[in-house]
Amino acid sequence: MKEQLALLRELQHIDLELDEIQSKKDQIVARLKENTSFLDKLVQDLNAQKEELEEIRTLQRRKKDDLAEIKEQLSVRQKRLREVTSAKEYSAVEKEIDSLKKSAEQTEEELLHLLEVVESTESSIKEKEDKIVQLREGIASDEGEAEKQLAALDDKIKALKDRQEEARGEVSRRVIHKYDFIRSRRPGLAIVAAKDGHCEGCYMALPPQQFIEIQRGQTLEICPSCNRILYFWEDAVDEEPLPDKVEA
Ligand SMILES: [Zn+2]
Repeated sequence: MKEQLALLRELQHIDLELDEIQSKKDQIVARLKENTSFLDKLVQDLNAQKEELEEIRTLQRRKKDDLAEIKEQLSVRQKRLREVTSAKEYSAVEKEIDSLKKSAEQTEEELLHLLEVVESTESSIKEKEDKIVQLREGIASDEGEAEKQLAALDDKIKALKDRQEEARGEVSRRVIHKYDFIRSRRPGLAIVAAKDGHCEGCYMALPPQQFIEIQRGQTLEICPSCNRILYFWEDAVDEEPLPDKVEA
């Protein structure tokens, strides 16, 4: 059984490394996705702003037509003012001229304001376009880098899976089944050390008789508290320690 447990520890090492590599891959993919969705959002904003600018320009053209129309009417009235004979009509035309002048002034002010809006919208569009170009370049180089990283991680996965298959082939079906079952139930460690009479996975004291059995290493022993497979700690002192990050 001690040999089987040593194989399980090796297998666990491989599995934990595979977990870590997978989470690195996930992080890379998530980062790329985040970049792309940020860019998409910016492009959407840009398109919305371009539409807005078109609307403002349409309004601008309409106001210019309005102003031309008002000026036309104004000149007609001014001509008539020179031709009228009655004082009553004169005053009526004069009133119309006043009101048209006011409209012209107001429309000119509106046009001035629209011009400002057009200019600020144009500069904001330019800014966004520059930013998008920059982002696209950044994303392209980031993607190139990420592809390399992912390929390197895939190579590692391939090598680990080969070792994993080999190690699994040497463990008895009953033991591997137990190991897989524990791993399917909880992430992290499936096989833990028993030391000084307690389980190093959950730190609960083990029944003294069970601790003796674990030292003998002839049976598959399971922690009664955390249900993990146990091995005698001294059997693994020469082995590579587990990665720091792993939580028991
Ligand atoms: Zn335990």
